[in-house]
Amino acid sequence: MINVTKTYLPPLEDYTKYLKMIWASNQLTNNGQLVQELESKLKEYLRVENLIYVSNGTMALQLAIKASGLTGEIITTPFSYVATTSSILWEKCTPVFVDIDESTLCIDPGLIEDAVNPRTEAILATHVYGFPCNLDAIGDIARAMGLKVIYDGSHAFGVKYLGDSIFNFGDISTLSFHATKVFHTVEGGAVVTKDKELAHRISSIRNFGHEGPEAFSEIGINAKNSEFHAAMGLCVLPGVENFIKERKKIAETYSDMLTEINIVTPTCYKEVSYNYAYYPVIFSTENALIDALKVLNENYIYPRRYFYPSLNKLPYIGSKPMPVSEDIAKRILCLPIFHDLSVTDVRLICDIIKQLYI
Ligand SMILES: *Cc1c(COP(=O)(O)O)cnc(C)c1O
Repeated sequence: MINVTKTYLPPLEDYTKYLKMIWASNQLTNNGQLVQELESKLKEYLRVENLIYVSNGTMALQLAIKASGLTGEIITTPFSYVATTSSILWEKCTPVFVDIDESTLCIDPGLIEDAVNPRTEAILATHVYGFPCNLDAIGDIARAMGLKVIYDGSHAFGVKYLGDSIFNFGDISTLSFHATKVFHTVEGGAVVTKDKELAHRISSIRNFGHEGPEAFSEIGINAKNSEFHAAMGLCVLPGVENFIKERKKIAETYSDMLTEINIVTPTCYKEVSYNYAYYPVIFSTENALIDALKVLNENYIYPRRYFYPSLNKLPYIGSKPMPVSEDIAKRILCLPIFHDLSVTDVRLICDIIKQLYI
C-alpha cells in the first residue's frame, strides 16, 4: 500500500535518549527544556527571530488572528486546507474569499483591492503546497490599504524566497508540524513574527495569559505543547535537509515521466528554493482525475484530493463563486511523495496514469 505521504519515524534509540531526559527532569510540559531547545533550533534552522511552538497549526492560526486583534473581515484564499477558513470563523471574524492565481494556486493579488472595504482588517493567505504567494504584490497592497498580513505557512517548512526564509514575510506566519507535514512533531505548530512585542503576547496567551505565577495579562488559552512532542521534533529536525533532497528526486522523476501526457505538473518560479512538500498534478477534467484515482486505488495506491472542495463551497459559508479555485479543486490530485518512496514505485504510479492516456 502506498499512501500520499508517510510519516518519518526516527530510530527508536534516538527518541529513547530524550525520554530518559524527560524521566530525569520529571518535567513533562510547561515550557520545559526540550520545548525551549526545539524553539531555539527551529529559529536557527529557519532563520527567524521569534518562534512560538504551539500544540498544532490550527491553534497557531487562531493565536495569530487573536493576537493581531482582528474582529472584522479577513481576505483569504478559497484554495487551502479547511483550517485556514475555519480558524477565521472560530475567532468570530468573517472570511472574504478572493480567487486564486492559476499559476501559483495562491491568492490572486490582482483581485484583492476589489474585495477591500472599511471592515477589512487583514489578509490571510496560504503558501499552498509550499508555493510562495506573490509576496511583493501582497506586501504592497497591505501597506497601501493598512491591512495586516498573516501567511498560513503550514506547507512551507524550509522554503526560501530570494535566499530569505519565507516566514520572514508578512506580519505573522503560522506553521503546522502535524505528522503529515515535511517536518513534524506528531502534533504541533508554531507562530513566527519579527515583532518582539507581538511574539511576547502570543507566548503569553498560549499559556492562559500568565505573566508570572499569579498574574494574568489577558484572556488566554492552553496552546502549549509537551516535552514528548518537542523530543520528536528534535529527532526529526536533523534529517529534514535530506528528506527535502529525497523529495526533490521523487518530484523530478514524476515530472520526467509525466511530460508526454496532458497533465499539468508543478513548477516554481526561479527565486524560490522549494521543499517538495507535495506533488500536485492537474488533470484536464474531473472525470480524468476520478478515472486515475480509481485505477490507482485498485493498485493499492492512495493519492489524495488536496484540496477539495474549494473552501467557498463549505456548507457553513455563503460566498460568491470562485471560478478558478473551484475548477482547480475539481481537477487536482496530490500524488504520493515522501522521504523513502522508491523510484520503482514512482515509475509504477506514472505507468498506471499514462496507460489511461493511451
Ligand atoms: C495542516 C494544515 C493546517 C492545520 O494544521 P494542524 O497542525 O493539523 O492543526 C492549517 N493550514 C493548512 C494549509 C494545513 O495544511
